[in-house]
Amino acid sequence: MSLSLYSNAALRRSAVAALRTAPALRSSYIPLRHFNIHPNKRATTTMTNTTTNVPLHTKPEERSFEHLSVFTNKELLSFLIMGLCTLNKPILNTCIKLFPYVPLSIVKALVYRIYCGGETIEEVKTTGMRLHERGINNMMISLTIEACDGNDNVDPEYIVDETCRSVKEILVPHMESMLAKASDVNSIPPGYVALKPTGFAKDSARVLREYNTTSAAEFEGLVEKATKVCQAVYDANIALQKKYPARVAPFTVAVVDAEKHELQEGVYELQRRLYSKFNKMNEPISVVGTLQMYLSESSSLLAKEEQLAVKNNYRVGLKLVRGAYIHSEKNRATIIHQTKEDTDFNYNQGIAYCIDSILHDKGNESTIGHLVVASHNAESLHLASSEVYNESTKDNNNKTNVVLGQLMGMSDSVTFDLINRHQIGNVIKYVPWGPPLETKEYLRRRLEENGDAVSNDNGFKLVKSTSSELLRRIMGRS
Ligand SMILES: Cc1cc2nc3c(=O)[nH]c(=O)nc-3n(C[C@H](O)[C@H](O)[C@H](O)COP(=O)(O)OP(=O)(O)OC[C@H]3O[C@@H](n4cnc5c(N)ncnc54)[C@H](O)[C@@H]3O)c2cc1C
Repeated sequence: MSLSLYSNAALRRSAVAALRTAPALRSSYIPLRHFNIHPNKRATTTMTNTTTNVPLHTKPEERSFEHLSVFTNKELLSFLIMGLCTLNKPILNTCIKLFPYVPLSIVKALVYRIYCGGETIEEVKTTGMRLHERGINNMMISLTIEACDGNDNVDPEYIVDETCRSVKEILVPHMESMLAKASDVNSIPPGYVALKPTGFAKDSARVLREYNTTSAAEFEGLVEKATKVCQAVYDANIALQKKYPARVAPFTVAVVDAEKHELQEGVYELQRRLYSKFNKMNEPISVVGTLQMYLSESSSLLAKEEQLAVKNNYRVGLKLVRGAYIHSEKNRATIIHQTKEDTDFNYNQGIAYCIDSILHDKGNESTIGHLVVASHNAESLHLASSEVYNESTKDNNNKTNVVLGQLMGMSDSVTFDLINRHQIGNVIKYVPWGPPLETKEYLRRRLEENGDAVSNDNGFKLVKSTSSELLRRIMGRS
């Protein structure tokens, strides 16, 4: 039965019901704590974070620009340019249109440094240490080679080899250096490597669309390539677990990214194969899949993933996103929630459900074993952090299995607030890296997809605050 056939109110009720009553969900299912039917009320009425009484600044106008003090002058100049590009919608739209024609050298000189981790492994390692200076102790690295829509530049063998190398040469050493500085091995979030399923096969869109019919053999090749990377992640976890036996969460995690809706059935199949091979019962999970909560079917999908895991005896790791393809989905009206409010509600409901599952069981017993709340929405991040960090979870080490993630260069004020005002350590940044031409395409998509978030956070306020910070430095004021 399709949830998209329902009215909005019924849709909300059915989404919750689907999660609560799915027969194979944990038999002793505990109703979601603080469940609130209206998403916007949640942040004000159910704040339970006792680490500090300071509220997270959920409204853009409330946020300070204190976080700018940690950036270099060059980075501030880049933010100033972004502020100018996002002064208002027409300017932003013009910038998006002109972006493809801006020479790569100019993009690199002006804005690349705040959004991308670098071109080489060494540069990404340096970015990791820069983030650490800001209190962000780990990253989700992504070798960014845009591969959808039949990009012929894609060499799947190269992507697999470079991605495996990035696990061994970036994630493992970075994790070890963070653990060496930490007083508690459970205080450092894992290092993640993002896997774009479209990077693991030539003509990947066709392979994913026809994964169980005419392209079945090529799909097996795609699964094999993703498996190779996950094996590198799994082996790293086994080796590090021997050195740090007290750690509950994984050290490194492979994350399967979600694509356009028409490719997702193939991607879900890929995720399930990887879960079943690498997410063994009573072990930390090594593979996280992605669910796009803007899809009207997503609450049923979440329940289905949990049911399949119970049935087939494996654990599930999830990254919940709202979804990045709203502007390009052809069947938007039928597959995506009708309103932003419905997406928000569904997203918040999904994260509350996963957190409840993770915190409910001890050690690594829960079926849903790990959650990445991948969002820039301060309200959702606040909800997640208040569910995870409160008096009742003080001694629950499973809370290290819930991690909050934002894209590098986006919502830095929110990231700063989480770390510095709320002392929340489980925050990571998504760090794209790789050939400059490909990262330029990534930058263009980010502008397009997150135009609203960008202008909320940037615009005139950012121009004003970056100018003030630069002026303060020039005048030598403290
Ligand atoms: C670490 C990380 C990893 C990510 N990985 C992926 C990935 O694998 N796949 C992917 O698709 N995206 C991914 N994203 C991108 C993510 O989907 C976008 O950042 C997100 O959509 C922006 O939403 P937000 O949660 O930041 O909040 P907001 O800015 O509050 O929400 C914006 C989003 O709400 C939804 N929305 C907006 N208007 C409407 C409407 N009228 N009706 C219904 N819904 C609406 C859309 O999803 C839109 O993008 C990732 C993001 C991060 C931070």
